[in-house]
Amino acid sequence: MFSQIYLNSQNLYSYYMLSNFFNTKIEFLKGVGTQRSGLLNTELQIFTFGDLIQHYPFRYEDRTKFHRIAELYEGMEAAQIKGRLRYFETIGEGFKERLVAQFSDGTGSIELVWFQGVKWLEKNLRIGTEYIIYGKPTAFQGKFQISHPEMDILSAENEKGGYYQPVYNLTEKLRKRYIDSKTIANMQRNLLEQAYGQIRETLPDALMQKFKLISKRDAVYNIHLPQSEGWLHQARRRLKFEELFYNQLRLIKQKLLRRTEYDGQVFKSASLLTEFYNNHLPFELTDAQKKVIKEIFADMKTGKQMNRLLQGDVGSGKTIVAFICMLLAIDNGAQACIMAPTEILADQHFQGLKPFADSLGIPIAKLTGSSRKKARTEIHENLLNGSLKIIVGTHALLEDVVQFQNLGLCVIDEQHRFGVAQRAKLWEKNKHIHPHILVMTATPIPRTLAMTIFGDLDVSVIDQLPAGRKPIKTVHRYDSHRLTVFGFLREEINKGRQVYIVYPLIEESEKMDYKDLMDGYESVARAFPEFQVSIVHGKMKAADKDFEMARFVRGETQIMVATTVIEVGVNVPNASVMVIESAEKFGLSQLHQLRGRVGRGAEQSFCILMTDVKLSRDSRTRLETMVRTTDGFEIADVDLQLRGPGDLSGTQQSGIIDLLIADLAKDGEILRVARETVTEILTEDPELENPANLVIREQVTTLGANETNWSKIS
Ligand code: ADP
Ligand code: MG
Repeated sequence: MFSQIYLNSQNLYSYYMLSNFFNTKIEFLKGVGTQRSGLLNTELQIFTFGDLIQHYPFRYEDRTKFHRIAELYEGMEAAQIKGRLRYFETIGEGFKERLVAQFSDGTGSIELVWFQGVKWLEKNLRIGTEYIIYGKPTAFQGKFQISHPEMDILSAENEKGGYYQPVYNLTEKLRKRYIDSKTIANMQRNLLEQAYGQIRETLPDALMQKFKLISKRDAVYNIHLPQSEGWLHQARRRLKFEELFYNQLRLIKQKLLRRTEYDGQVFKSASLLTEFYNNHLPFELTDAQKKVIKEIFADMKTGKQMNRLLQGDVGSGKTIVAFICMLLAIDNGAQACIMAPTEILADQHFQGLKPFADSLGIPIAKLTGSSRKKARTEIHENLLNGSLKIIVGTHALLEDVVQFQNLGLCVIDEQHRFGVAQRAKLWEKNKHIHPHILVMTATPIPRTLAMTIFGDLDVSVIDQLPAGRKPIKTVHRYDSHRLTVFGFLREEINKGRQVYIVYPLIEESEKMDYKDLMDGYESVARAFPEFQVSIVHGKMKAADKDFEMARFVRGETQIMVATTVIEVGVNVPNASVMVIESAEKFGLSQLHQLRGRVGRGAEQSFCILMTDVKLSRDSRTRLETMVRTTDGFEIADVDLQLRGPGDLSGTQQSGIIDLLIADLAKDGEILRVARETVTEILTEDPELENPANLVIREQVTTLGANETNWSKIS
């Protein structure tokens, strides 16, 4: 007892000291000063000691070895050479002015070239002096050349080499003001001299021993100034683990908290459901659909508020699952809403749900930004008086004027495009008792990402497509084979099928893409004089778009030439071929979504990816992945490897992932271990009362109390 109190007060005391230290303004650091601190503030958002120490390098250059000039080879990333400056001269004038130097090391000689800073170099370079240079050698007219090498005069201190040079994120402006990675590394060195002793341990002893983790101090020191490759590795491992550990701790605590704190409405009776199952269900549900419905119903009956993520690939049948869950709510006198990120998606949901609702006589309406004032007012009234049971909409649903009589279930589609704050806003719509929340996502999310973005949710997965669907056959063809491809399309259309031909439309080059689309449309119309061709793109008026779309849906046109507007929002089971032009311009998840537009009927479907022969390595990987698999999760994983998590479907905008050092594409294993460990700890000691977990509790408090980031490291 005594020791515990003692421990506590000592820690409180040191915490106080530390928070002051790491909150020290950056201008007070040796070697910074007012001018540089201004730049650090605006360019890198570094305001305090704590901010600087958390500005981790994103890679390292190996300066442990020296290369001999005779051993240089083409394609080398970088070389470090010890040698003598033999000679230099300035040649050319004006724009072409450059300084060329000869540098040799006894095994050969190379040329060093500068296009900038010539005047300064002329004054400061010393012929006959020994330097250490570093840069990327390129072969030029049979000789190696390094342009703009880093140079240091050889000294007793640096002649052994022997360190890893950290490389930091910088901006153009900083470079112009001569703040480079070395400058930042020097600042880190100055800071660490004072900070090292102040860095507090943030993981319990037992964990550090179990996973053989180095101390926080050593990790922070070596992340900036690695003593060796081994130390660097251990530093990264330690910091990644810690980051993911506290990330998971927060999420899992939230989840547990909600389970114990928040009551949910209890939904039991199910007469509408029985009616729907017996008389209106348009098809047999798949086992996967039945399974997830069971999981969701179980939540809605417990009396605890549900927060569940429903994952299911394109075409797996999430809409009907959502509808059935809504029925349970309505059956019990509550209302339901479904929110989508775009008008097109909201419209698709409305079109998909309305027939089901109509079959049971349940009032349903759509509310989006473009709803007319009159309709809007009416919807607001009917939601408040409870006569309107299902509302489908966009962000418009979040407005304060939208009030419900009793909102029982919120379905949120494509959650990762919404922020957590928006989820919370829906949650607050019911004053007395929070509505159940079901988050649906059509884009399969890699496991690691799901664990961090949705780590506070329970997860259900529809891992099966409705029966009778044949897997889509996917091929990659070069533009030169277009005639053969057109011949194939003709055969399919003659069998009674319909065909999509999709063109990329990327915003920056919109004009050019638009021209590609129109050229494409004309050549398709010319190649298929015997068929009717529709065209749909984002610049058309909504009415015209609908008109063309409707003709295709009715089968009056056989070919639909379109941009990615059809990525969502159409469901034409008779369409069995998807041709994607310039397929290399699309991201993987987009290709997957587009392909999901076919394969909805009983016929064999095809996806043809058209490209030029010239392809980057990443493009090739994307195409090969599409050809190899139709498994959305596998595709999502490759996508994550290629693009990194920040890029994935807008996760960055929603600001959910905020990791300093862990990389979700690479650190899946560390994440898994961290999550497991957190779960174990919280199961045994939910309130973190065990003295062994004191460190964790303190760190949680620190993380929660501090808006600024410094706390994450101390
Ligand atoms: P997604 O999961 O992509 O939202 P949808 O809910 O739009 O998928 O369903 C895709 C298509 O499959 C729709 O036409 C839907 O009516 C149909 N569908 C859904 N479930 C089944 C099922 N169990 N059997 C047959 N067809 C189904
Ligand atoms: Mg859908």
